[in-house]
Amino acid sequence: MTGKILVSACLMGHAVRYDGRSKPLVHPAIDRWREEGLLVTICPEMSAGMAVPRPPAEIAGGATGEDVLAGTARVMEITGGDVTAEFRQAAENALALATETGCRYALLIDGSPSCGSGLIYDGTFSGGRQSGRGVTAALLQQAGIEVYSDREIDRLVERLAATDTTIIAK
Ligand code: SF4
Repeated sequence: MTGKILVSACLMGHAVRYDGRSKPLVHPAIDRWREEGLLVTICPEMSAGMAVPRPPAEIAGGATGEDVLAGTARVMEITGGDVTAEFRQAAENALALATETGCRYALLIDGSPSCGSGLIYDGTFSGGRQSGRGVTAALLQQAGIEVYSDREIDRLVERLAATDTTIIAK
């Protein structure tokens, strides 16, 4: 049996982003996976008690989620608040849920300091982006969970089709 897929709540249409919005991902695989009971939805930041809306936050100094987990970088709000502890807790909550529910894959929205897996903002709050993972994506990856960004959903479809004949790419 294939593993389940941990998925960013904002991709599933939940209005949990810092700006109070969602960013729904429309793809036939999403409906199919939902019907098959494969999706496990979480907003890591909300699970750590962060409010909606909340100030935008970025990993400071051009660092990455791995640096935050290693204790060598901070996550800062645009207003100057240090939310490093919340972001680490958010990542731990996501990993705990993934482990409890048997998720072997994660489908996370790119760009976020939590969920980004290919791109994150560069810490200057100027819109600049760089390669790198957010804190949750980094922790999941370190734990052996395969992390895909929303832009890579077709690759996840192919991965599941190749892994388990009960999941058929349509
Ligand atoms: Fe979406 Fe992840 Fe940010 Fe929550 S933490 S709003 S799921 S990108």
